Amino acid sequence: MQPIHPTPSRWLVPTDGSFRLEQATTSPPQPQDEDTLEKRLKVLQEEIGDRQDLLYADGRFALLLIFQAMDAAGKDGTIRRVLAGINPAGIMVHSFKKPSSEEVTHDFLWRTTRRLPRRGMVGVFNRSHYEEILVVRVHPEFLEAQEIPDARADDPEFWAGRMASIRDHEAHLARSGTVIRKFFLNVSREEQRQRFLDRLDEPDKNWKFSPGDVVERGYWDAYQAAYEEALRETSRPWAPWYAIPADDKDFMRVAVAEIVLATLKSLPLRFPPVAEENRAHFGEMRDRLMAEGPGD
Ligand code: ATP
Ligand code: MG
Repeated sequence: MQPIHPTPSRWLVPTDGSFRLEQATTSPPQPQDEDTLEKRLKVLQEEIGDRQDLLYADGRFALLLIFQAMDAAGKDGTIRRVLAGINPAGIMVHSFKKPSSEEVTHDFLWRTTRRLPRRGMVGVFNRSHYEEILVVRVHPEFLEAQEIPDARADDPEFWAGRMASIRDHEAHLARSGTVIRKFFLNVSREEQRQRFLDRLDEPDKNWKFSPGDVVERGYWDAYQAAYEEALRETSRPWAPWYAIPADDKDFMRVAVAEIVLATLKSLPLRFPPVAEENRAHFGEMRDRLMAEGPGD
């Protein structure tokens, strides 16, 4: 029922397992004009809002948008700006932090499953089940804390199993009407350094700085390797990844918004048909309302 083709985009991660992260650029392909991007984003915000109304009225599809990135790539701001035109009643955003003790004692898809959008809704994951093959892979102590029988962080088969679980899970969701689009905001190591420096230097950005972020930056290469494999093994036609250049925030937001809008436009959305027996009463109902007169 839903189109299984990924929304076309030059940022689409190949769905045939051939992705190489080094081929993905972190900066826009050509210089960008800020005003043009701002104007385009406004138009996209509005159109996304209109389409979401229709998604809600139609009621047959859920849209799940997943955002993953290194620190300071701009996940929060992108979510806020891309989805600014949506009726708040139609969207649920969830940020996944370190799991609670209850969460780690369940299977690794449990906590995100509980936050999935129902049909008619847009769900946004700021971080997601992908952390389970990213941060947990980079830091084996998180896996140990999960106390899974026979799970070994140094066993590639273990991670391959997790990726198979994710592919199956997302295919299952797609079969139930959930349209999944995943965004990797691809920031360069140098741009991250600059943004951390800004957080230290600018008083109104100090609150965003956490010393842990600089420690985590030390694992850059391990993260890049984990991201590459995660994207390669889980970008599939029913749940594609997009690797969006993130060094220019305006460009990144427009690129994400274009894909979100094109995805909504690709769905066969329609206002639900009115049942004939209902419509048969329309004339009578109109007569009643008219008979009341204004101000009754
Ligand atoms: P921001 O820093 O912009 O507010 P954030 O998403 O980085 O947003 P933080 O509270 O800084 O939020 O970080 C959340 C942390 O939780 C990240 O370091 C992330 O890797 C970690 N995390 C998320 N999911 C898991 C998981 N399943 N296991 C272990 N750590 C996780
Ligand atoms: Mg953080």
